[in-house]
Amino acid sequence: MAKVYKFGGASVKDAEGVRNLEHIVREAGNDLMVVVSAMGKTTNALERVVEFLDAGKEEQALSQWVDIIDFHVAIMKQLGLQPGTDIRLQGEIPYDPNRSYDENYDQIVSLGEIMSTQIIAVYLLKQGLSVEWWNMPKLLRTDDTWREARVNDEVSRHTIRAGWDRPQRPNIVVAQGFIGGTEDGRRTTLGREGSDYTAALLGNYLDAESVTIWKDVPGILNADPRIEPNTVLIPSLRYQDAVELSHSGAQIIHPKTIRPLENKHIPLLVKPFGDPKAEGSRIADDGVGPIGVPVYIWRKNQILITMRAKDFAFVLEESLSEIFDVIHRHRLKVSLIQSSAVTISVCVDNTRFVPDAIKELQAHFNVTYNENLSLLTIRGTTPEILERAKDGKTIMLSQTTRRTARLVVVENN
Ligand code: ASP
Ligand code: MG
Repeated sequence: MAKVYKFGGASVKDAEGVRNLEHIVREAGNDLMVVVSAMGKTTNALERVVEFLDAGKEEQALSQWVDIIDFHVAIMKQLGLQPGTDIRLQGEIPYDPNRSYDENYDQIVSLGEIMSTQIIAVYLLKQGLSVEWWNMPKLLRTDDTWREARVNDEVSRHTIRAGWDRPQRPNIVVAQGFIGGTEDGRRTTLGREGSDYTAALLGNYLDAESVTIWKDVPGILNADPRIEPNTVLIPSLRYQDAVELSHSGAQIIHPKTIRPLENKHIPLLVKPFGDPKAEGSRIADDGVGPIGVPVYIWRKNQILITMRAKDFAFVLEESLSEIFDVIHRHRLKVSLIQSSAVTISVCVDNTRFVPDAIKELQAHFNVTYNENLSLLTIRGTTPEILERAKDGKTIMLSQTTRRTARLVVVENN
């Protein structure tokens, strides 16, 4: 039976990470699908290339691009690979001023995963493993919703199974997370941090026995160890609890990851790549729930937008669908909603789509907004825990139900 291993950018940020990946993969046995993200912060760096090009700053784009290539060449050399001979990296930036920003984004940003998987596949091969490199833009079929492409399961399942079920297939397949392709061969991306989702889809298509996400933390913790000093590991979870955690903004797994696995009852394991023998966390049908400890989830870079009807003839309740239409069209990610008779407030991720959405909302409402906010969700809270959490923070808005508290907090940098 197939197993799927997913390695994120942090686990392959340098040559040492790639060597560690090799050790983990070697232990896994046959029929292993290895899904890899871009190395380190490459995706962010490629995003900057797109931004520079779009702004007409070609020199800066080129220098950023050269840095990215140099970063990969350095890792290749440390791994004993010959740039140019073992792997030919993309020479030119695939930018076309006639295409939309988002389409250019996908053609450029997708290269992070192409480069990381090429390096890793060749390295594993050179270490004597039986390996095949897969080009996901040809295998994972999506529509052309650039940057948020939707996967065509039917076509993708078929092509991926056909590749996997071949009699002479090598033991290990190395594939890119996060990227796919359209029918006419253009590369697409599935949304930031989408590699987990790819791993889950592949697990589903291959009827895998498990999907393991290798991370730089011991497993799923009840809080971010960089923020909270006393975190605990949650060894066993139900799918439903994992979904809620990821939707509240827990960075641990991408929200779209759970569904494809739950549908086929495939366990999801989250394990530390620095300590492969550790148990980590396991999300499965027989997971333990509800989670027995309070869980703290921070969602950063939020903006709170408050709309007030311009005159009272304009009943707010009746304009809700209009508001959500604007939100939907501008791809805003809503993290919290609160309404009163005359106002409605939405807390959303502060993306580059926000200004245009606000402009549109201003046509109908008096709009005010606050930036530099974080949303803290505490699941399994008590009044005492909530009091402690509020201490020393500037709170813009709070929403509590019996077990869950959500605080919109001013970030203090
Ligand atoms: N490399 C992509 C990103 O950083 C996808 C991923 O890491 O999951 O967003
Ligand atoms: Mg990444």
